[in-house]
Amino acid sequence: MERKYSDEVKPGDKVVMKGWVAKTRDLGGLKFFLLRDRQGTIQVTAKKGNVPDSVFKKFSDIMKEYCVSVEGKVKVAKQTSAGVELVPSKLEIISKSEPELPIDVFGKIESGKDKRFDYRFLDVREPEMQAIFRIKARTVQAIREYFIKEGFIEIFTPVIQAAGAEGGATMFPVQYYDKKAYLRQSPQLYKQMMMASGMDKVFEIGQAFRAEKFHTVRHVSEFLSVDFEQGWIESEEDIMRTLEGMVHYSVSAVARDCKKELKMLGKRVNVPKLPFKRFTYDYVLKALKKVGVKLKWGDDIEDAQERKFGEIMAKKGIEWYFITNFPSKIKPFYIMLEGKSSRGIDLDFKGMEIASGGQREHRHDVLKKVMKEKGLDPKNFEFFLEPFRYGIPPHGGIGFGAERMVEKLLDLPDIKEAILFPRTPERLIP
Ligand code: ATP
Repeated sequence: MERKYSDEVKPGDKVVMKGWVAKTRDLGGLKFFLLRDRQGTIQVTAKKGNVPDSVFKKFSDIMKEYCVSVEGKVKVAKQTSAGVELVPSKLEIISKSEPELPIDVFGKIESGKDKRFDYRFLDVREPEMQAIFRIKARTVQAIREYFIKEGFIEIFTPVIQAAGAEGGATMFPVQYYDKKAYLRQSPQLYKQMMMASGMDKVFEIGQAFRAEKFHTVRHVSEFLSVDFEQGWIESEEDIMRTLEGMVHYSVSAVARDCKKELKMLGKRVNVPKLPFKRFTYDYVLKALKKVGVKLKWGDDIEDAQERKFGEIMAKKGIEWYFITNFPSKIKPFYIMLEGKSSRGIDLDFKGMEIASGGQREHRHDVLKKVMKEKGLDPKNFEFFLEPFRYGIPPHGGIGFGAERMVEKLLDLPDIKEAILFPRTPERLIP
């Protein structure tokens, strides 16, 4: 007999249903339990005389969080929230649970974050927790769909690298045979190499690693990075168009396809209007000055200042926006610089940086010159510089933090809530 989920059954169906026991109730001649599967719950009801004696007896053995398989008939049950119940003809205990759970998943006692992450497999039994990860899955899926629709080719570049674009300080070292290697911070160098390969428009969705001892609600040691790189561009404007299209497409997909999950979480997502607003770095500085936050021209916009600017935007009803024309001195050598200003851009969402990138410098001689100006020795970057020697079109791209997007989309208190098994300086298990 076919297995059905709790949201698929209708009165009259003969089905097998499998799941966890959420609640039990014993009224003597009438016994119930609530069966929970990934789609919801259904009441399983046994009345003495109406179900086989062996099944009725087995109801007494059933305890919370046991895994069971029930074969039976679906009947109308107006008194239940689903409007139907399952009357069993067969009941099998598949796996038992110890009576005391280490965290109170469905009860009133709220477990601390650390304890919940220690027992994530139990934590995620709660439907609201599953809702977060279904929304995350849909977000990333939609991002992939968008790039494919726009003619981008998906690439898969090495996670084990010899060095990063910005040196090794924030990279995790790994022993690579008899050499030292690192986990990637970003696939950027490889994406740029693909621009020299003629693949024109590429994207990659994969883990990136940062060995920084951050303890914030927006940093983790391992995160899901969405990266794209696009060739033959006119300016960073082309990059912003691709990026805002990607965000619009994925937020629309979540709003359309995750209604049940959003309702469960009590959230509403706003599909942003295109195009997103573009604010220059100078504009941000002026806007911050008006509210008493002073920054010198050339200072980086830090976390607290980003949040403050987000509050100013929120008052205008703006959630997503670009910040453009960053000062050259705070941008890395690979971003195209134009005197004091650069072609680097950030995308912010509700006062948090979600993506960073821009137009890259593709001219070999300029790249070497800028490296020297920034105190770097081009000799240490030969591997990076090679592709710029044999023909490479103007190009640009970004790195986008998928979990930061989910965090902000659902107003989660911490990025770690959007990661099944978060990695932090203290957390490596499970
Ligand atoms: P921040 O200044 O916020 O630390 P960054 O400038 O180091 O970020 P980039 O190196 O430009 O970030 O990375 C691009 C994107 O990747 C960021 O906008 C962010 O969404 C995501 N990201 C970067 N570092 C982390 C991290 N430690 N944890 C989670 N996401 C991250």
